[in-house]
Amino acid sequence: HFNFCAGPAALPEAVLARARDELLDYRGLGLSVMEMSHRSSDYEAIAERAERDLRELLAIPDNYRVLFTQGGATQQFAALPYNLLGAGGTANFVQTGIWGAKAIKEARHLFGHAVVAASSEANGHTAVPRQSDIELSEDAAYLHYTANETIGGLEFDYIPGAAEGLRRRDGAEVPLACDMSSSILSGPLDVSRFGVIYAGAQKNIGPAGLVVAIVRDDLLDRARADMPSLFSYRALAEAGSMINTPATYSWYLAGLVFEWLKNDIGGLDAMGAINDRKAAKLYAAIDASGFYSNPIAPGNRSRMNVPFVLADSRLDEAFLAESEEAGLLNLKGHRSVGGMRASLYNAVPEAAVDALVDFMADFEKRRG
Ligand code: PLP
Repeated sequence: HFNFCAGPAALPEAVLARARDELLDYRGLGLSVMEMSHRSSDYEAIAERAERDLRELLAIPDNYRVLFTQGGATQQFAALPYNLLGAGGTANFVQTGIWGAKAIKEARHLFGHAVVAASSEANGHTAVPRQSDIELSEDAAYLHYTANETIGGLEFDYIPGAAEGLRRRDGAEVPLACDMSSSILSGPLDVSRFGVIYAGAQKNIGPAGLVVAIVRDDLLDRARADMPSLFSYRALAEAGSMINTPATYSWYLAGLVFEWLKNDIGGLDAMGAINDRKAAKLYAAIDASGFYSNPIAPGNRSRMNVPFVLADSRLDEAFLAESEEAGLLNLKGHRSVGGMRASLYNAVPEAAVDALVDFMADFEKRRG
């Protein structure tokens, strides 16, 4: 079977096998990782190793803190403005789809205002705004964007401000904050371009229940005083992400995924090349057919989430039933948009894409 779920998503088989081997008795300690105190030296070693490996994979500079927190990426929609609006100013957003819209809605809900500095709404979120379209407000405290819109299948092909930095009219630097939930670790990344990166774990990192946040040091001092202490990047950083009981098992599994990326895959350059190949194959099959289609501008097509529709939506149900029968799981599109979606996260092997492409061709021949 191949699992194309958008999240919680497939995990590498080698990682699951190792977790199974260590499940009941972790390295002869006589207990499961799930049963360990998060304050024990054995668990601390697991937690530290995970952070070390993630730092190595992403070449995270020393002036960034890595936080392993909870509450989902959705909690970060609230935590981020709490942490960055303490010195005043306004949250600015580039809006490219449903997840970005939710982040904006939460900032407005909590702080009454949020500025949409650029949006792809006019083109139906089929192409991201260009750098020159981004108009920061004069009081911008940070700029938030969604690197990859998981539902729309729209991915940035550049980092806003990467070339010359983001500046307000008065010259102040505007830190960049990014929801990288569905694209983190899909290829190499220059972390130094960002103020804050956060990602829910349940796609490319590990099981649900964990969020990784990567925060530049100097931003720890911009928090509002009146926020829940569990949201505080500074408090989390000072407590080694253990203000309270962390999602210990998810954190451990994330560590296994990082090891797999390093040792089995060979790092993020290698992972990126594999992901490029996988996505190119599927988009090529879609484009070559008159039966399947994807509306996204070629340069902004997501490598991780490939939505597509059938020329005749009355065939959707048959497509889903037959694909499942063929061992191709979870191809149904998001409930808000319909159609199909194949998520091609790191753990989805190239053979899965080959099997999907073959199935699609066969289905089209028989039913198209
Ligand atoms: N942001 C993006 C880009 C997502 O894809 C998702 C979930 O799919 C979320 C945020 C919300 O994540 P969570 O369910 O962890 O709150």
